[in-house]
Amino acid sequence: MLKRILLTARWIIGHRDGAHVVHENGVAVIEGDRVLFTGPAWDGEADERIDYGQAIVAPGFIDLDALSDLDTTILGYDSTPAWQKGRVWPESYVAAGPYEMYSPAELAFQKRFAFAQLIRNGITTALPIASLFYREWGETAAEFEAAAEAAEELGLRVYLGPAYRTGGQVVDTAGTIRAVYDAERGFQGLEEAAAFAAKVDGRAGGLVRAMFAPDRIETCTAALLQRTHAIAAEMGAPVRQHSCQSPTELRLVQEQHGCSPIEWLDRIGAIGANWLLPHGTQASERDFALMAHHGATLVHCPLVSARHGGMLRSVPKCRAQGMNIGLGTDTWPPDMILNMQVGMMTARISDGIDAIRSEAMFDAATLGGAAALNRPDLGRLSPGAKADIAVIDLRRCLQTADPVQTVMTATSGRDVRDVWIDGRRVMSDGAIPGFDPDAEFGRAQAQFDGLIAKYPERTLNHPPVEQIFDPSYRRL
Ligand SMILES: [Zn+2]
Repeated sequence: MLKRILLTARWIIGHRDGAHVVHENGVAVIEGDRVLFTGPAWDGEADERIDYGQAIVAPGFIDLDALSDLDTTILGYDSTPAWQKGRVWPESYVAAGPYEMYSPAELAFQKRFAFAQLIRNGITTALPIASLFYREWGETAAEFEAAAEAAEELGLRVYLGPAYRTGGQVVDTAGTIRAVYDAERGFQGLEEAAAFAAKVDGRAGGLVRAMFAPDRIETCTAALLQRTHAIAAEMGAPVRQHSCQSPTELRLVQEQHGCSPIEWLDRIGAIGANWLLPHGTQASERDFALMAHHGATLVHCPLVSARHGGMLRSVPKCRAQGMNIGLGTDTWPPDMILNMQVGMMTARISDGIDAIRSEAMFDAATLGGAAALNRPDLGRLSPGAKADIAVIDLRRCLQTADPVQTVMTATSGRDVRDVWIDGRRVMSDGAIPGFDPDAEFGRAQAQFDGLIAKYPERTLNHPPVEQIFDPSYRRL
């Protein structure tokens, strides 16, 4: 007999007829790895009962661009332009020979640390993303083997695949950014990714699945993306391709192919319903129409865009096109609630208050992610769905008239109290078994400091660290 666990709370976000529903003072019943029931009351047997009281029992969040890095993007918050601040390789660094700035052990630590932070924020399904700036070239199967082990140990549902690319961007002393290519290296990366995918897909009772991550559209050739598309389609695996995210990318794609990024994917036949496209902030109406036509998912990462003065224009317009939208955290903190809140604000700044309501953003963080992954068993608490649950504590909240509106206005990721994934309680009262926050944050900071010390090597003209990152106030 499978173990039955009954959860009660002030608010249960259930699911009926294809949409989330709210049960006030309701119950959710877990049986094994699945949801058995949600509703106002349960008459049947239960092996264990947990009363969460003033809390929301919600479907766990699906993070399609899940921060799996000790995030270096935050270093550029007040230090611009990126090409002068170590975010584009100078020609001198390329000539000297790029190298891995983290050891294999550091790469493994960083992913496990990041996975714990995702769980901490109520994220139950994650497609990791990390920077390639400090890498020799792409990501490796070896570090993703370690990532698969970490996911299994911590209990996080993941889609894993090392990022690969044909090219990178290089900046000269005049500040001109150009693309450099190594076709053979791109195909080697894809081969390694395909072998890893075949090996890892379905591991840990299906908790670990494969994905393909060709890195950024302007660093990939048509042949690389076409072959990626063919292999991924055969496996039924998702492909994530960053596109329409920066003016430099738009210029490079225009120079190389004479069209926009999505027009190019459409032309070379490398796009489909299993394609996940972050970030879309530079996309045109025609790009959106093509994404919608192919059934691709736009991966919206509101926080990282807004921090850099940008926004998706717009969520309401994309929804009107019938496009599927999922969310990603992409930057520190990996807080999906904060991302939903910023997503609401930027959509309203762009299109007005009546253009979007809370449930649309909540859908994107749950059902949108599930649709992107073709997983009707995720992102909802309906009978038979996976028991992937985030419990959001409301004991310090003033307004609880509506649970989803409360999430948008009064909570943060730090209010996530318990997390269940695949029916397993992977976080309990903020504690993750096997993860000691004091020790692990100390180690993460030390590793991050070590990386910062290496910034001069891959920053244009190699200035000292103090000149790369502009401080806030004078240091006395
Ligand atoms: Zn991203």
